[in-house]
Amino acid sequence: MVFAQRVRTLLDQMSLAGVDTVLLSVGADLPYLTGYETTPLERLTMLVVDSAGSTLVVPELEAPRVAPGEFEIVAWKETSNPLDVVAKMCPPSGSIALGDQTWSVFLMGLLERLPKARFRSATPLLRPLRARKDAAEIGLLEAAAATVDRVSARLPSVRFRGRREREVAREVMDMMIQEGHDEGQFWIVASGPNSASPHHEPSERTIEAGDVVVVDFGGRQAGYCSDTARTFVIGEPTAEQIRVHATVLEAQQQALAACRPGATAESIDGVARGVIEQAGFGEYFIHRTGHGIGLETHEHPYLVAGNNEVLEPGMCFSIEPGIYLPGRFGVRIEDIVMVTESHAVPLNNSDRSLRVVS
Ligand code: ZN
Ligand code: ZN
Ligand code: ZN
Repeated sequence: MVFAQRVRTLLDQMSLAGVDTVLLSVGADLPYLTGYETTPLERLTMLVVDSAGSTLVVPELEAPRVAPGEFEIVAWKETSNPLDVVAKMCPPSGSIALGDQTWSVFLMGLLERLPKARFRSATPLLRPLRARKDAAEIGLLEAAAATVDRVSARLPSVRFRGRREREVAREVMDMMIQEGHDEGQFWIVASGPNSASPHHEPSERTIEAGDVVVVDFGGRQAGYCSDTARTFVIGEPTAEQIRVHATVLEAQQQALAACRPGATAESIDGVARGVIEQAGFGEYFIHRTGHGIGLETHEHPYLVAGNNEVLEPGMCFSIEPGIYLPGRFGVRIEDIVMVTESHAVPLNNSDRSLRVVS
């Protein structure tokens, strides 16, 4: 039902854009339309969508993995060339839109077989659909957010002091699975000076008293992603640590309050940045304020200066301002939020305060 509806919406977009055929392979557009995710291997799996319907061209040995859906299945044999199969289904001189993550070897094979066709990116067609989550997707994002919130709630009872970042990170990963994720995708534990590096890779550093620790983690559950970050301190925080944390939290909450349909993505970034600049930390907020999330951890819309994309009900994205004082410490607070008809609500709701841990 839900997939058939998405395909119908795509067909509307295609006719508006004058696209005859959409071809999707590796990447999230394929599971978005079919519920089937292909493995990124050398054997081609490709969904062909045109006004006649959708067809999944799949290696014969993988056909048993495909749950029947509202598409036809064409299984190709090991001895045949799947590009011949796909090319035959395409209009020889038509307009063909291709998924961005399709391997170039497949595109080159199609260019050879369809020299008169015009190829373009399928992203402009799918992006507006995928950015606005439907009820089924919102339910899955809420469930994924609730899982990492349960992990956040357990973090204060984790032992940090005297342990290596990697050990704590491993525990965070395990907790994501225990709480209901199918897989963990990242588990950043950044302590002391490492917390000033936003994408720090958990290291052999031993966590000490006085450290600020940023824990940023997420994974997947039923295909949908989670992503949240909280900041802790080992023992009593200094006045400066308290002030930096309070500034980041204020930036995050003001950005959330500014979200509403019709606001631009860059205006939300501007609100968060404004709070941090006012407090004198502007040069230490070194990344965009947020990113969309859904089947992928990072997807449209991006909350960044220069993106005047307008927020719409159903859009889900992170709000994750941070302040990073090089060589000293950093703070980041991240929630996924959903735009409603009138404002936005956080899907993550665990304690955001600077919690003292041992
Ligand atoms: Zn990030
Ligand atoms: Zn994150
Ligand atoms: Zn994020």
